[in-house]
Amino acid sequence: MEENINIRKDIITPNDKEFEKQLRPLSFSDFKGQKQLIENLVVFVTAAKQRGESLDHVLLHGPPGLGKTTLATIIANELQVNLRVTSGPVLDKPGDLAGLLTNLQEGDVLFIDEIHRLSPVVEEYLYSAMEDFQIDIMIDKGPSARSVQLTLNSFTLIGATTRSGLLTSPLRARFGIKFHLEYYDYEVLTGIVKRSASILNVKIDEEAAVEIAKRSRGTPRIANALLRRIRDYAQVKGSGEIDIDITRYGLKALNIDQHGLDEMDNKILSVIIDKFSGGPVGLNTISTAVGEESGTIEEVYEPFLIKEGYLKRTPRGREATEHAYKHLGKQFGKNMQDSLF
Ligand code: ADP
Repeated sequence: MEENINIRKDIITPNDKEFEKQLRPLSFSDFKGQKQLIENLVVFVTAAKQRGESLDHVLLHGPPGLGKTTLATIIANELQVNLRVTSGPVLDKPGDLAGLLTNLQEGDVLFIDEIHRLSPVVEEYLYSAMEDFQIDIMIDKGPSARSVQLTLNSFTLIGATTRSGLLTSPLRARFGIKFHLEYYDYEVLTGIVKRSASILNVKIDEEAAVEIAKRSRGTPRIANALLRRIRDYAQVKGSGEIDIDITRYGLKALNIDQHGLDEMDNKILSVIIDKFSGGPVGLNTISTAVGEESGTIEEVYEPFLIKEGYLKRTPRGREATEHAYKHLGKQFGKNMQDSLF
């Protein structure tokens, strides 16, 4: 199952991955937003440090680009331990995981991205490692093959997932700390844009930073990617500094929706309005109509559309709001059921 969700593929390039490292906050004080989550996390990290114990396993869930990897990096930094990074689909066999686990030093952090994509055998293998810091490994081959129990150094597993619904309950139960990351409001995103601009050494004025923040779908990764694109426009078509005019010019050239919605967001809304008279319509029907997995729509796209007031979840299905009609330039309440499946 290849399902690498990366919102706004149209503006995020592979190169952005390198920049992400450069722009990634390294301490709690640099991490903006998610206030309550951070407050709690600071307590848990401080307590673990004071006791000289490893931090409980942490599960982070939320849409892509909101800061899960960043938080794992910060936790390891604040605990002053090593961070090992891997991801669910990469860990093919229990042997791959055993190699990683046996190399962890006392208190280290192991970050598994897309943890919902672990294979069942690897997942089961992880249970005893998480619970008792022990694993079984096979030594020798053929008739003399036998399994030996190994004790691991205690470590903290940080699992990240965009699809918490796909996590099995035994795995979920083994995490002592669970956090959900929320979309960022534009005020916080404006701060992130300004911080990134200063790291990239480019001047940006307040109005331009707000404009970029408002068009970023509540997502720091998108805000940073937009900033980089606008920086290019400023350099080539402007004065090198980012002001509101060059920002508007760049956003227009990039076809960025006025409210930061991406292609799939708009497709979902159009389908509901044009093909199903604005709803209510079931999730699976929407999924078939737009060609995206229903779980991804539910956990990645929908939360933002609901938060911004474009979509309503009702017992009978999803409904487009008046705001969605306006956004797409359609007349609210007009029956547009002209093409049926
Ligand atoms: P995820 O792992 O959830 O997909 P990342 O942690 O990779 O997201 O974050 C994507 C980028 O967004 C990072 O490069 C980081 O610089 C930036 N970022 C995310 N959250 C924040 C934040 N709260 N403050 C500042 N920058 C952030």
